[in-house]
Amino acid sequence: MAPSRPLPQLTVVNAPFWAGCREHRLRLPRCRDCGLVWFPIYERCTRCTSTNLEWIDASGRGVLWGWIEMHKGYIPWFADKLPYNVALIRLDEGPMIYSNIIDARFEDLRADLPVEVVFDDIDDTISLPQFRILPS
Ligand SMILES: [Zn+2]
Repeated sequence: MAPSRPLPQLTVVNAPFWAGCREHRLRLPRCRDCGLVWFPIYERCTRCTSTNLEWIDASGRGVLWGWIEMHKGYIPWFADKLPYNVALIRLDEGPMIYSNIIDARFEDLRADLPVEVVFDDIDDTISLPQFRILPS
């Protein structure tokens, strides 16, 4: 039997984020009291602890901040996908998000490379945000 792909656990708190991804929208919480936009998803503002939040549609754009190339399949599902990159992207709205840069060679990755989100429809409920390099 083929190994199963690790997928996010949906919760009451992160459901709006994943529902947005399903619609190919990168939705993030923004604090109505101090204006902070944050990720990963928490039920409280990570700056002022307010629970007075709204969900915004992020631009889906950002820059590559850090990255690695995986050469060992620590998780069985990834064993035949090696090598692959794991990237940290600084979104235009401020938060950082871990993802992958698709359709790129590792040697082409560099700091501050402009990227944009694309969505990989995994099943009926999960679409994973991935990123691709914006043409210069
Ligand atoms: Zn706040």
